[in-house]
Amino acid sequence: MENKKEKLEGIKDKNTVKLIEEGYFTVIAGPCAIESWEQLDTIAKVVKDLGLSFMRGGAYKPRTSPYSFHGLKEEGLKYLKEINAKYGLKTVTEVTDTENVDIIADNVDVLQIGTRNMSNFALLEKVGRVANERNKKVIIKRGWASSIKEWLLAAEYITSKGNTEVVLCERGIRTFDTNTRFTLDLSAVPVIKKLSKLPIIIDPSHAVGQSDLVTPMSRAAAAVGADGLMIEAHCNPSQALCDGQQSLNVKELVELMRQLKNIASVIGKKIR
Ligand code: PEP
Ligand code: MN
Repeated sequence: MENKKEKLEGIKDKNTVKLIEEGYFTVIAGPCAIESWEQLDTIAKVVKDLGLSFMRGGAYKPRTSPYSFHGLKEEGLKYLKEINAKYGLKTVTEVTDTENVDIIADNVDVLQIGTRNMSNFALLEKVGRVANERNKKVIIKRGWASSIKEWLLAAEYITSKGNTEVVLCERGIRTFDTNTRFTLDLSAVPVIKKLSKLPIIIDPSHAVGQSDLVTPMSRAAAAVGADGLMIEAHCNPSQALCDGQQSLNVKELVELMRQLKNIASVIGKKIR
């Protein structure tokens, strides 16, 4: 009986941990794509040791080229579930199609809608329904050619289905400049704070596309008032099957966290 009670309380606790909390700056870190159990486990240990609560890892990878690595799919989801069991880290992965929403919800805590799917309304509706029924959180990235208004309306496809925690993620928009992969629109943060109650996090990795630019833009994201970050990190970026050029290695991630802690203390937040 005792055991049963403990278990039930554990489940309740799991479902009520929020992605974004007042007074906290949430850093979600992890590889672009899950490549193997060993790869995910090694970086998960780093993320856990840094005191973070959420980890990312792509199982279904929407790639611009049909010849690129498209992820381990169901096998990757299994690893994410094992990571949650082993380290207690909440997991984030991308839903790419109405067909994989249910199986992803079976295995992870946070459903991510990628930039390429921000205007896939059938997917948004399905994610809204499943997230509400199954108490999942949702991160919706900004389409790289979408206005803030279009983005907020896309988020409403999900919020209108119920009480789901929905978090916006700015990940860079397309402009004429080619020095960075996209242009990180940090002004989206104060604009969203004016227009919406939804929290907003920043993904500098996909925006800048180069690892050495990730740290300065992460500092700026914290200073501008974002509620958190999503960072690509890998134990061996040069060997990564996806987005290694923009992934922080372990040393860089540790140093970024040190710098963020300093900024967080100035702005009255705690990192988690
Ligand atoms: C990702 O986060 O893995 C990803 C593909 O990002 P985006 O949708 O912003 O390109
Ligand atoms: Mn990536």
